[in-house]
Amino acid sequence: MKRVMIGDAIKEGKGKVQLWGWVHRQRNSNEMAFIVLRDASGIIQCVIKKAEVDNESWIAATKANVESSMEILGELKKDERAPTGFEIVAEKVRFIYKGDAFPIAKDLSPEFLLDVRHLWLRSQYLSSIMKIRSTVTGAIHEFFRLHGYFEFTPPIFTPAACEGGSTLFEVKYFENKVYLSQSWQLYAEAAIFALEKIYDVSPTFRSEKSSTSRHLAEFWMAEMEAAFMDYKECSEVAKDEVQFIVKSVLKKNQEELKILKRDVSKLEPAATKKFPTLTYTQVLKMLKEKRGLDVKWGKDLRTIEERELMSMFDTPVIVTHYPKEIMAFYKPVDAEDKEAPRPVAKCFDMLAPETYGEIVGGSERDTDIEALKQALEAGGEKVENYDWYFDLRRFGSVKHSGYGLGVERVIAWICGLENIRDAIPFPRTMDRWKP
Ligand code: ATP
Ligand code: MG
Repeated sequence: MKRVMIGDAIKEGKGKVQLWGWVHRQRNSNEMAFIVLRDASGIIQCVIKKAEVDNESWIAATKANVESSMEILGELKKDERAPTGFEIVAEKVRFIYKGDAFPIAKDLSPEFLLDVRHLWLRSQYLSSIMKIRSTVTGAIHEFFRLHGYFEFTPPIFTPAACEGGSTLFEVKYFENKVYLSQSWQLYAEAAIFALEKIYDVSPTFRSEKSSTSRHLAEFWMAEMEAAFMDYKECSEVAKDEVQFIVKSVLKKNQEELKILKRDVSKLEPAATKKFPTLTYTQVLKMLKEKRGLDVKWGKDLRTIEERELMSMFDTPVIVTHYPKEIMAFYKPVDAEDKEAPRPVAKCFDMLAPETYGEIVGGSERDTDIEALKQALEAGGEKVENYDWYFDLRRFGSVKHSGYGLGVERVIAWICGLENIRDAIPFPRTMDRWKP
């Protein structure tokens, strides 16, 4: 008989099926055994009656440790009492591989679960997140391809910083030293002269020196870059992309959101409403007037300020025009802005609602070589490392913009996670790089 996935068997709702999977739960009395079997598509309860199966089946059913792999043949029936509303009345039960005693039971410490991450991945909790992660990255590819963008892949070994030297990971490169990529941006800026509209979803590395619930040392960034585009149009693309992602998850992952106990009503506004845009200077005013929070003009928004701001909204919000003095070297000054006391940049962040904060960072890119050199020097970078980058301004320069979306930040928000660690299969942080 051919193997059937549990999800397909439940959809069919009746008939004789052969299942292959892993033991999720097991209990038995003298006459009856219950195995909840799990495969990638779901779980189902199987009943094994001693009087109705061969001896080998009865032994397998009663001796099965959690996570043993098994083959179960039986008749699918509706049963209101079973966890998924259906039950298998088993005719034959066989081990595929009898597992040792599984080390994960209930109520274990988060640190232990990280130590056995390779096994904890099988939990309904993590596998639901990984299914949602697959929808999120799939939606990103779909969104950009629908809008005429080419996928463009950047190098991961890079000779210089993009986002400032302090978070670079150094790697021995034969007799030299290079760094792991902090962003594809400088390379994307080279590629727009050939392809105009490009995107990627790539691994990104930053040696973040503090442990927070929203920073990883290795994460995935989905970036875009487009020729002839200003920062305003670019921020609209970011809004559309995030809305597209949320809609996709709401459409495809209701089951997983339920397992995660996510309050879906908190996500729905992001799928339907327009996201507001504010300037940094307006945000400081709102924080002062509505929350009595005093942020000195020129300071970056800290987690607590982002949280206070976002408690006033139910959709993501775009914040534009941060002070030039705290921005990366490539973000140009907006000379037209008259609202701010000091120069501001043509840049934007997108902040997620609830407590999630920044999920996207983007900007127009400076096309003035002198301004770029000054900003690099002010940041302590070696200007000569960027000579190739200035070529992009020398040969047919055009206005262009781009942004990066933190894939795990978006997943953490959509899934309602307490910590970004669970948004990636094997998290890497300052104090965690195993298994
Ligand atoms: P933050 O201020 O939160 O550290 P950033 O300003 O350093 O973020 P950008 O350089 O703008 O971030 O990167 C673009 C996006 O990549 C961010 O909006 C965020 O979603 C994501 N991101 C940045 N750093 C990390 C990290 N260490 N772990 C996970 N995601 C990150
Ligand atoms: Mg950062």
